Amino acid sequence: MASPALARPRTPAPPFRSIGRSILLTLPMALWALLMFTPSFQQHGRNSHIGAVAVILFMTTLFFLMMRTGKTYRWRRYFFVALGFLFPVGFIAALVALRGTMSIPIERMVSGDTPFCFMVTPMLLIPAAFTRTVIFPGSILPTASNPHSIAIMIGIWSAMTLVVGKAWCSYICFFGGIEEGFAAFPKHMKIRRLDPRLRLVPWAILLFVVVLSAALFEPVYCMWLCPFKTVTEYPAVHSVETAIQMGIFITLFAGLVVVLPFLTKKRTQCAYFCPFGAFQSLFNKINLFEIRFDREKCVDCTLCRTACPTQALSAESIRDGKTLLNCMKCGACVDSCKKDAAVWHLKGTKVALKPERARLLFLYGAWAMATMFGGSILANSVATMIGFLPFK
Ligand code: SF4
Ligand code: SF4
Repeated sequence: MASPALARPRTPAPPFRSIGRSILLTLPMALWALLMFTPSFQQHGRNSHIGAVAVILFMTTLFFLMMRTGKTYRWRRYFFVALGFLFPVGFIAALVALRGTMSIPIERMVSGDTPFCFMVTPMLLIPAAFTRTVIFPGSILPTASNPHSIAIMIGIWSAMTLVVGKAWCSYICFFGGIEEGFAAFPKHMKIRRLDPRLRLVPWAILLFVVVLSAALFEPVYCMWLCPFKTVTEYPAVHSVETAIQMGIFITLFAGLVVVLPFLTKKRTQCAYFCPFGAFQSLFNKINLFEIRFDREKCVDCTLCRTACPTQALSAESIRDGKTLLNCMKCGACVDSCKKDAAVWHLKGTKVALKPERARLLFLYGAWAMATMFGGSILANSVATMIGFLPFK
């Protein structure tokens, strides 16, 4: 029999709320989803309407289930994995419609002729200050096709980061959803222990790409290290250099996004590689919400550590009543704790004082962001897939 530390965490009996109260608590999110998708109903065609209705129902139902069962991670996962797997569908279809291919010459990638990507936010700032050219996705000057792209990207990122902090990585980042899907697939971990010091690697990569990008005025991460080029756009392969780049992208994607999550049931790209995730961790310091541990209730069973997808918990951090800085507020630890020792917490209040209220306040912000950003991506992908159907 597996030891308690290695066993799959069993979920404690959920604190069910009444249906009426759950509906009442869900109402603001249902109205928000309607508000978000009202423009879709006014402007677009039938497929977009179907996509919008599907997403409104999907997001509202999941939020209702979070309210009804008191579980966060279990229901958030459905949204997040759907986002991860459907995002490339809409994105690739748009690229192919625009250019006839997913590949693009690297010069065009750097010149601003590409959609934006939040991954590069920490790498934008220094080159932008010196050259008025960001290292990717392109010119800081307005272009005809994308007049406010950079301003919009930084505005959206700042607003979302202030509301959710590092929870960006578990409610908004479509790349993380792909890993979470592969991590969810197997029933048991095949590899049970990874060296905790690996948590430091994303910080090293962040430092490396920021300094090198600033020195070279080149999108170092995008050109050499981004695993997600494999499922978005990639540099056209026409030389040994571009072939090596593609080889690196595919290897990183296969290893960190598919194989290792499958073997470890962890989000290995997020936990041990992603420089953007490391950067987002810094904003946990100013975010109002966090997970805390009630030492009087905790029995050191380690279920929460086993459940954490990014190894954001250590024995010492739990003893101190806190998570590590890289906690992305996914809620897996709270869901898995049978002693109610892991709780949502609003900074400035007493630990375990109305944790359900802290969870609710956090979820309103996080789910509103998820609906606005991820929901529109989902609706677009659903509409695209309907367009592929042989019957109309
Ligand atoms: S917080 Fe809960 S799940 Fe984590 S070690 Fe303590 S009792 Fe176990
Ligand atoms: S510490 Fe808890 S909330 Fe934070 S990432 Fe780990 S499981 Fe998720």
